[in-house]
Amino acid sequence: MFYGTIRESKTKEECTMKLLTVKDTFAGKLKKGFPLIEKDALSGSSAHLTEGDLFDVTSEKGEFIGKGYYGLQNKGVGWVLSRARDERIDGRFFLDKLKKAAEARAHLFKASDTTAFRLFNGEGDGIGGVTIDFYDGYLLIQWYSKGIYAYKDSLIEAIDGLELSYKAIYEKKRFDTAGQYVEDDDFVKGERGDFPVIVQENGIQYAVDLNDGAMTGIFLDQRHVRKAIRDKYANGRRVLNTFSYTGAFSVAAALGGAEKTTSVDVANRSLAKTIEQFSANGIDYEAHDIKVMDVFKYFGYAEKKGLAFDLIILDPPSFARTKKRTFSAAKDYKNLLKETIAITAKNGIIVASTNSSAFNMKKFKGFIEAAFKETNESYDILEEYTLPEDFKTIPAFKEGNYLKVVFLRKK
Ligand code: SAH
Repeated sequence: MFYGTIRESKTKEECTMKLLTVKDTFAGKLKKGFPLIEKDALSGSSAHLTEGDLFDVTSEKGEFIGKGYYGLQNKGVGWVLSRARDERIDGRFFLDKLKKAAEARAHLFKASDTTAFRLFNGEGDGIGGVTIDFYDGYLLIQWYSKGIYAYKDSLIEAIDGLELSYKAIYEKKRFDTAGQYVEDDDFVKGERGDFPVIVQENGIQYAVDLNDGAMTGIFLDQRHVRKAIRDKYANGRRVLNTFSYTGAFSVAAALGGAEKTTSVDVANRSLAKTIEQFSANGIDYEAHDIKVMDVFKYFGYAEKKGLAFDLIILDPPSFARTKKRTFSAAKDYKNLLKETIAITAKNGIIVASTNSSAFNMKKFKGFIEAAFKETNESYDILEEYTLPEDFKTIPAFKEGNYLKVVFLRKK
């Protein structure tokens, strides 16, 4: 049995006494299950709260809504953790949530050809502001506020209470003022990994490093999309992978029988990282093109050369700044598509992907429609993806399902 306690500086009495009052206009939404306490929802000041404080959320009328913690993150000031008045937010609470999350991933723990996936997905699994990924026995915790980071010891104690043997725990602190990664040694406990370690995803090998900056080498939320590319779309095709990072999509396409892949990313290190991913799968990287280049510059080059592709993957960051320009998915996706359409062969496939939570699927499809209209081309939609099942989301928090991927065919 596990009877862990919350280890923090404040006593429980001090914590549970605190109140956070939300405007009545927001109370209804929170009561329906919306878990994030937005800055705008606050009625009055939250100056009495510090990061990590637990509080009762009430409406201006004084109705009890739930219990939560204070943690500054993007547009939010904290997350509701429970709607039960007598629930204790303690080690037991953490362990229960983790256990449920692990049970829901039983199929992934059992899978022989997939060893990397998300074990715990923040509010989708009942605790907003923190995620845990599993990379072949290595765990990666990502903290999105100083508030949730105050519970580090409790969460790790809860992980240790799971029937899960792991090699080591690493972490990413993503809570500087802009929600960015805080550079650090990310090792927490266990036996340090000898990185890169190779994980598997539907039989594809990926090299990952959990202690090398903000990213690990693979974005686990695209698992089903990579499989679809390998199994259904790549065979015999000339593939262009833009914003290719470590070339994860290129590897999937190459394994799926692509005639050739071209990976384009502006980051210098993407070259070595992409070679590493190809090599991890025994693919001769020299048979593929890997270009360190601004994607927009590449479009110009490809058009001038009259290049055409049969499968183009577009998965830009939500926001990026290079020396020459700033890219924002919300503003620039349509133009990105127009440039893409120009170098897509007839009947070619475009995989349009975005992880921007600034717009929803409907709006995203609006960008696609506008881009085709403005280029006088037509298309049909073949299939769509959102987050995979291990990136669990809840219906009351649609913005948590940020991933939108549309496979379309240029007619
Ligand atoms: N599609 C990738 C993940 C992309 S991460 C995958 O699924 O693995 C975003 C990448 O975009 C980063 O590697 C960054 O270097 C690159 N990037 C940002 N702006 C760019 C630009 N203008 N041209 C090319 N690459 C860019």
